Amino acid sequence: MKIMPNRLDRGFYMYQQEFERKALEVLRSGWYVLGDEVRSFEEEFASYTGAKHCIGLASGLDALWISFRLLNIGRGDEVIVQGNTYIASVMGITINGATPVFVEPDPHFGIDPLRIERAITERTKAVLVTHLYGMASKMDDISEICKRYGLHLVEDCAQSHGARYNGQMTGTFGDVGCFSFYPSKNIGAFGDAGAVVVNNDNLAEAFRIFRNYGSEKRYYNKVIGANSRLDELQAGLLRVRLSHIEELTQERQKIAERYNNNLNNPLIRLPELAKGATSVWHQYVVRCEERDRLKAHLDNLGIGTIIHYPIPPHLAEAYLYLNYKKGSLPITEHMADTVLSIPMYNGITEEEQEYVINGINHFR
Ligand SMILES: *Cc1c(COP(=O)(O)O)cnc(C)c1O
Repeated sequence: MKIMPNRLDRGFYMYQQEFERKALEVLRSGWYVLGDEVRSFEEEFASYTGAKHCIGLASGLDALWISFRLLNIGRGDEVIVQGNTYIASVMGITINGATPVFVEPDPHFGIDPLRIERAITERTKAVLVTHLYGMASKMDDISEICKRYGLHLVEDCAQSHGARYNGQMTGTFGDVGCFSFYPSKNIGAFGDAGAVVVNNDNLAEAFRIFRNYGSEKRYYNKVIGANSRLDELQAGLLRVRLSHIEELTQERQKIAERYNNNLNNPLIRLPELAKGATSVWHQYVVRCEERDRLKAHLDNLGIGTIIHYPIPPHLAEAYLYLNYKKGSLPITEHMADTVLSIPMYNGITEEEQEYVINGINHFR
C-alpha cells in the first residue's frame, strides 16, 4: 500500500458538487475581488470563532505582519515567540523590523508560559502564540502574563481553526487572531488566502483599510497600505468548506483517537494535550529518539511522513543575524530532531490508517 502524508484531493471530492457549483457561480457573477462572497465569509467566520470582526486577507503571513504593523510594533521592539514554530510566524515579526525573542516550548508543543516572564525586557511589546499542529496553547497563563505586563497578544491560528482552550476559540484571546487558509490547512482554500479576527472596532477598520492600498473610499488613500485582498472565488469556496467544518474536525478527532488508542510502540511518544485544551489535529505528531530511522522504516513500507519542522527558525540561514547558535534552545532543537508527522487528513480510510498503525507498531 502507498500512503501519502496528505491527500488534498480527498477533501475536494467529499464536497465536489458544492465546490464546483460555487466556483461556477462566482465565475459567472462578473465580480471577483472583495464582494458578497468575501463579506459573507467574513461574517460566517467571525460567527464561527465568536469574534466580533473577521477581515479576509491574501495569506496567513499577511495576517501576521499586518497585525504587528497595525499594533505599531517595529524597529527597536521585541516580540516573544516560541522557538518551535513555523518560519512564517517569525517573518511576521521581522518584516516590520522588530526582533523575535525565542522561548522554549512546553511538552505540549506550545510556548512555555513559565519561560515567557523571564524573556520580558523593557523593549518587549507583544507575545505571539502559535497553536501548533492544531493544539490549543495554555491561554489562561499566557493571557494573564500579557495583561500583567501590558503586552499585546497575537495568536497564530494558521493550524488551529476551531481549537479551544477552556471552551474559548483560539484566535479570540488577544488583540488579533491570525488565520491561514492555505490549501493544506484545516479550512483550506484552493490557492492562497488568510484572515484575521479581532474584537476591537477601530483595529478591524484599520485592517479593512490597510488591505486595500490604505483606502476606505476608492482613490482616497489614508495610509500606505498593501494589496492583501481575499478574492471572491477563494471566499466562496471557503464558505463551502466552513459549512462542513464541524464534521471535518470531528473526523480528524476520530482519526487521532484511533491513533491514540492503537499506537503502542515504547519507542514512540504520542502527542499530549495541555489540560483544558482541545486539538483540531492539523497534524498528528509523534516523537522518537531515532526519528530518522523511523522515517526510513515507514518510507520502506510506502508510508509518507513529514518533519514539521527540521530547522527551527533561530537556526535558519535567514536569521543568522540574530546570533543564535546550535545549543541556544536545546528543547526546541531536540523537538526538531525527534518530531514526525504521520498521515492525518480528511478522507483517510480505516484500512489506510490500520496500515500506518501496524507499520509504526512494528518499528524496532
Ligand atoms: C501556514 C502557516 C502560516 C502561513 O500561512 P500562509 O497562508 O502560508 O502565508 C503561518 N503560521 C503557521 C503556524 C502556519 O502553519
